[in-house]
Amino acid sequence: MNTIPFLLMLLNSILSLQTAGYYTVDDFYRADKIDVHIHVETNRDAFVEQARKDNFRLLNIVVDLSKGPEWVEEQYDYCLDQKTRHPHDFEFATSFSIKHWDDPEWLQQTRDWLNKGIGEGAVAVKVWKNIGMVFRDKNGNQVMVDDPKLDIIFKWLASKGVPVIGHLGEPKNCWLPIEEMTTNNDKVYFEEHPQYHMYNHPDLPSYEEQIAARDRMLENNPDLIFIGAHVGSLEWSVDELAKRLDRFPNMSVDLAARMGQLFYQTQHEPDKVRAFFIKYQDRLLYATDMADSGSREVAELQNSMHKTWLRDWKFFVSDDAMTSDLISGDFRGLKLPKIIVDKLYSGNARKWLKMFPEDHK
Ligand SMILES: [Zn+2]
Repeated sequence: MNTIPFLLMLLNSILSLQTAGYYTVDDFYRADKIDVHIHVETNRDAFVEQARKDNFRLLNIVVDLSKGPEWVEEQYDYCLDQKTRHPHDFEFATSFSIKHWDDPEWLQQTRDWLNKGIGEGAVAVKVWKNIGMVFRDKNGNQVMVDDPKLDIIFKWLASKGVPVIGHLGEPKNCWLPIEEMTTNNDKVYFEEHPQYHMYNHPDLPSYEEQIAARDRMLENNPDLIFIGAHVGSLEWSVDELAKRLDRFPNMSVDLAARMGQLFYQTQHEPDKVRAFFIKYQDRLLYATDMADSGSREVAELQNSMHKTWLRDWKFFVSDDAMTSDLISGDFRGLKLPKIIVDKLYSGNARKWLKMFPEDHK
């Protein structure tokens, strides 16, 4: 028997199996992708146009930016408009204002408002960092996310199977002086938003208290489907995140606006970060937090969206050496297997948020 052709054939099939198991950077346009954390606060189509070019679909999220129910309703209207005109590109998550928290009718009015949103197609409800970091009740007490009144809403949402997306607390950098922060984007953000830079506000709850309140809320609501926005505010340590994912089986996280921290951890402990993505492949949802308020020049917005999406794709599918303005120094991509990349970019979003169910009909 001539073994050489046989060995060549074997080698060939091993090689093709290997390449079939991984995406390349050029597969970016081909792969089905969902960005589960964006904010389109305008009726214009600049955002969705770029998403279509890059084969992305979108979860547009309403957020209670402490401006009262009118602003929540305005964002909601943008969501509904975009979803109605682009049903195959957009899903949306609603939110609720806590401005009138102390009114006796607040709870019922909030449930009515959320019920309307769920009836109109909202796939989730977002809670924001104003809970825990900004809002105080009429007695001057900070309202934390494990508050009994919020618990009524969470239990009600759990009973309806509606997920909660929680941006609670901030990156740990927020409690450090600017020069000790690990990522450049945090340095810029907290320099520009000193009101949220907790290092300057030692009177407000600590990072640990924010995380503990969130953990208690999840402990009290084991049936609630919870997506921790921004890596669940545990962006600085895959070990700490792993502990929560082990403890709370109904918790997953989005990666929105925390790629810098993942790059930073990868720079220091690449094998650990890669092992984390493999072990928790069913619990991680790709997202960016990119936004369009209608004011930015279209070409500039679309260019930055494209660059961000492409940078992250390269990080997950290749092991190329990379640099990013988010951190100092270089790092390598994780080169995750295709099956995991597909979960990260769309499978997990469909599973956790029941997005785009029509695709499966
Ligand atoms: Zn956001």
